[in-house]
Amino acid sequence: MDTNPRAYERSRMVELQIRSRGISNPRILAAMRDIPRHLFIPPPYNTSAYEDAPLPIGNGQTISQPYIVALMTELLDPRPGDRVLEIGAGSGYQAAILSMLVQHVTTIERIPAVADLARANLAELGFNNVSVIVGDGTQGYPEDAPYDGIMITAATPEIPQPLIDQLADGGRLVAPVGGREIQELITLARKGDSMERSSHGGVRFVPLIGEFGWGNT
Ligand code: SAH
Repeated sequence: MDTNPRAYERSRMVELQIRSRGISNPRILAAMRDIPRHLFIPPPYNTSAYEDAPLPIGNGQTISQPYIVALMTELLDPRPGDRVLEIGAGSGYQAAILSMLVQHVTTIERIPAVADLARANLAELGFNNVSVIVGDGTQGYPEDAPYDGIMITAATPEIPQPLIDQLADGGRLVAPVGGREIQELITLARKGDSMERSSHGGVRFVPLIGEFGWGNT
């Protein structure tokens, strides 16, 4: 019996798409080798789960390209004791990767049917350190704040102020910031009262729709 379906495809994905592009954190590479990405993609696209691409998950939404998941995770610099907030759960793949690397993940999803998919996927794999919340993630989730890491996985015109306010001292935030079609990957690091901002290349994400994102349209 194959106890680890598609492990060979995953290890090729990690070598050819992720390590070869400069991601070296061994914990991140191990998590990406472990988590069965194909379980987070509904048919028929699940057959393409280990290709170098984002894929549809239904409701007009996508699962991110594996390399972008790895890059954003590396930029977040996750540490074992961290409490992390993700905005845009999608089908839960990025949350699953984070949950292997930190203490607790809160992930917010605006579309209830998509949140249900994330919950089902995470439960099936036995992750019990992830809370999936339905709501407008541009407002953050003050109940679990402050966060050592915040990752926005949808495109935003600017970083929502409530998220900046919920970032702990020493915390890191990663987000695609820019237009509806194309964005720049931005990191913010809080050091006391000051914020260090840096830029990490172009990306494409679906829009962040909410009060402090692209508005509720
Ligand atoms: N993190 C996902 C990718 C999600 S795609 C992964 O692991 O692959 C972006 C998701 O953000 C979509 O599911 C979309 O519905 C959701 N989204 C958009 N605006 C949002 C908002 N204001 N709050 C929460 N989720 C939002």
